[in-house]
Amino acid sequence: MPFDNLFQAQLDKLKEEGNYRIFAELERKCGSFPTVQNHGEGADDVTVWCSNDYLGMGQHPNVVDAMVEAVKAHGTGAGGTRNIGGTARHHVALEAELADLHGKEAALLFTSGYVSNWAALSTLGSRLPNAVILSDALNHASMIEGIRHAKCDRVIWKHNDPEDLDRKLAALPANATKIVAFESVYSMDGDIAPIEEILDVCEKHGAMSYIDEVHAVGMYGPRGGGVAEERGLMDRITLIEGTLGKAFGCVGGYVTGSAAMVDFLRSFASGFIFTTALPPAVAAAAAASIAHLKQSAAERDAQKRQVAKLRAKLDAAGIPHIDNPSHIIPVMIKDPVKCRQLSDILMDQYGIYVQPINYPTVPKGTERLRFTPGPLHTDADIDKLVSALKQLWQQCAIAHAVA
Ligand SMILES: *Cc1c(COP(=O)(O)O)cnc(C)c1O
Repeated sequence: MPFDNLFQAQLDKLKEEGNYRIFAELERKCGSFPTVQNHGEGADDVTVWCSNDYLGMGQHPNVVDAMVEAVKAHGTGAGGTRNIGGTARHHVALEAELADLHGKEAALLFTSGYVSNWAALSTLGSRLPNAVILSDALNHASMIEGIRHAKCDRVIWKHNDPEDLDRKLAALPANATKIVAFESVYSMDGDIAPIEEILDVCEKHGAMSYIDEVHAVGMYGPRGGGVAEERGLMDRITLIEGTLGKAFGCVGGYVTGSAAMVDFLRSFASGFIFTTALPPAVAAAAAASIAHLKQSAAERDAQKRQVAKLRAKLDAAGIPHIDNPSHIIPVMIKDPVKCRQLSDILMDQYGIYVQPINYPTVPKGTERLRFTPGPLHTDADIDKLVSALKQLWQQCAIAHAVA
């Protein structure tokens, strides 16, 4: 077809670099996660080691029942934007649940975490007077796109470095509205931000704080409110953003904060206003998931146990991984082709699914396999994974000292 050569040239380049993305076609079976059916090459049943359904809530009976019952009661779609016929009782109830989770006055739902970051940051940056967004150097693509779309001044500060942030805030004009955007758990290295020090700096300079807790909600804090809840810092943060799609096992995104700020975003954010609302059944399921994780620590405790076990066994096997305080275990391969090959062999020969993480998700030369153990991985699953990696490490001559 005309123009295909233009597309193909770029795809060929990706393939040469080893960065072409290949999806695994997998079928999750309710009740047997993290074992799933593989429709591609290799074993029929594979164990998933890279899911963001971190706690298995996507198949929790309370969550499944809530969705099924709500679909039966209310049908499938929301029927419109929130303004035109799309606000359901389940949306309102879920927003109340989220505001309560984070100890904030109000919450606003979006169709995904990506959209919530994009819409909130672009609206804050474009509407607030003399806005300047100060963005951590390793922020997620959704935040970067939101900041780009805001078309306001932006400053990148060194990753997790409050002193650099302090210097950069000090250099801004007095009349600037300063917005500091960062994450709690960074999902590629699994490191956690020094939130308290960052908030000290924000308060010193009168800056708003915007935190993405996407990889923490459900999993950290006594009620699953995230790292800021765990550290008793939620009330010092202007805006907390999260997802319903990862540990909560559904789909959707949200922001929480003051009633005035949430009303401002509700009234001005294009990415909220002009799109069909989440299906009410999704909202009902997400609310059930949040409510469960607010009062149950069993999933979080079991996740912590299995994360510690996998780390210890990798250490014993001499397989280097990034040491971090989170639930994410990155094993560095540092080569895109090798990273993809290892992932293929694990899938084909061992029934283990872990997607290679290559550029542009991470910088070139830092390619990795990223393992996320959860409460539903058994000790036998962990032993099988470590023994497979041990064999491959011997075969593939991957340096043991590369962490
Ligand atoms: C996944 C992710 C998002 C987007 O959330 P979705 O609900 O998947 O769209 C936002 N921020 C970070 C840091 C993420 O990893």
